[in-house]
Amino acid sequence: MIVNGGVVRKEDGAGGRYMSEFLKRIVIPRFDSSAGEIKLSDMDDSSDFDDYVFTTDTYVVDPPVFPGGSIGKLAVCGTSNDIAVMGAEPKIMSLSLIIQEGFEIQLLSRILDEMAFWTKKLDISLITGDTKVVNANIGIAINTSGIGVRNASLERNIDVVREYRRYPWKWVRDCGAGEKEVIIVSGRIAEHGVSVLNTREGISFDLEVESDAYPVWLFLRDVLEVGGITAMKDPTRGGLANALNEISEKSGVGMVIHEERIPMLESVRGFCDVLGLDPLAMANEGKVVMIVVEEMADDVLKSLRKAGQKYAEIIGYTTSEHQEVVLETKIGTRKILPPPMADPVPRVC
Ligand code: MG
Repeated sequence: MIVNGGVVRKEDGAGGRYMSEFLKRIVIPRFDSSAGEIKLSDMDDSSDFDDYVFTTDTYVVDPPVFPGGSIGKLAVCGTSNDIAVMGAEPKIMSLSLIIQEGFEIQLLSRILDEMAFWTKKLDISLITGDTKVVNANIGIAINTSGIGVRNASLERNIDVVREYRRYPWKWVRDCGAGEKEVIIVSGRIAEHGVSVLNTREGISFDLEVESDAYPVWLFLRDVLEVGGITAMKDPTRGGLANALNEISEKSGVGMVIHEERIPMLESVRGFCDVLGLDPLAMANEGKVVMIVVEEMADDVLKSLRKAGQKYAEIIGYTTSEHQEVVLETKIGTRKILPPPMADPVPRVC
């Protein structure tokens, strides 16, 4: 396949509809294949081989240190979260550093210390890597690939789902949602995007908002043990709006979301209002959206809260009455919640 003309735009890597179209046109057709049940073109959070899942992600957040974390913490959270939302236990990680010549060793050490702390916390072995120093204005970019393994909590979750419905997959897939299931978000949204944006030059509101970067496996293993989760995603770039639309589209079910039930700090809502940003499209780095069989939804919610996710909330349900994600507002009006075209803020992860 040869494509002539045009150049890559920043939207082509910004985690929304433009990026998805770019990948489907330029990248995926050249390679599409699978080593297990998940194809490259499925664009799930990880793909699988044997009893493992495999994923990779590159982090270019600016600035590299922000309230609540750093690019190092983000690199462990982001990659392990893409493994954890498959129901897999993160086990192995690689580390590739691309560092701008002149980058301060002290800052680099702080970033690597955070990575080391969170890999230990997760019991992840970091066993291979690569380093390049470049004369280009990038600061630091980090790539981490990761491998996760099948585990008893995942098996238990799928067994519980199968007590209620057919579930043909080995992993928790983002195409796995059925109709009349319950939509849960694990906590308050938009805090990563808002905290990073608020550290940028020219913007510094007096906000006490920190990035929510966190490895979701640390609570998901308990929640999977309760069971009944049919689909999961971590809502990163493109935010909650993107994650809901991806699950809806891939699963072939519509959704109704009750706007007032979406957990969000008032200061985050206000910040987004002032800057004309949609909090539903802002990045998160420690949250999970999950679809749960109706019979298990209350138990799953309870287990999320018990595992420390005290702002977890049921925000809606799936339906076969329409195909779209519909947002029901406080005053009872309904509007379609489309997937964002691109993340509203560049370089947040
Ligand atoms: Mg993901």
